[in-house]
Amino acid sequence: MISTVSTHHVGTTMNRAKQSWASSEATRASMRANKGRDTKPELALRRAVYALGLRYRVSRRPVKSIRRTADLVFMGAKVAVFLDGCFWHGCPTHHTAAATNADYWQRKLQTNRARDAETNRLLEAEGWQVIRIWEHEDTDEAATRVAAAVRTRRGPSRQAAPQETGPK
Ligand SMILES: [Zn+2]
Repeated sequence: MISTVSTHHVGTTMNRAKQSWASSEATRASMRANKGRDTKPELALRRAVYALGLRYRVSRRPVKSIRRTADLVFMGAKVAVFLDGCFWHGCPTHHTAAATNADYWQRKLQTNRARDAETNRLLEAEGWQVIRIWEHEDTDEAATRVAAAVRTRRGPSRQAAPQETGPK
């Protein structure tokens, strides 16, 4: 199970938002349109985690009955990784209140954060470890954090999956 590599399509990333967080309404609109699809930070994180020898599923529900999709899912170790966009999830460093429609954006942000907290609670109640990574975080550091959590939960007797081909 742990050696499964998702065949999730990574070939259609050309028109993704180039900036890692929103700096204008246009960018926000673009990010909104791209929500839930492969973003550059997601691809970078996947590659870095893959390079550390870990295999994972992409954009899956960790628990079928819980309608929440994690970005990287380690079924055996029960580790779910969410890569959170700085704007949509309220990164303390990069989230700045929008000048226009401030009430709307503030409500939206509060809704997202409440949902994130609920997702954590629901999955943790099922025995999962949830790791949240801001999209501005250093990719290699984040990947190292993920790998440490996965290997700790697998225990010392479980070996990492053998290297296969490159990330798909
Ligand atoms: Zn940020």
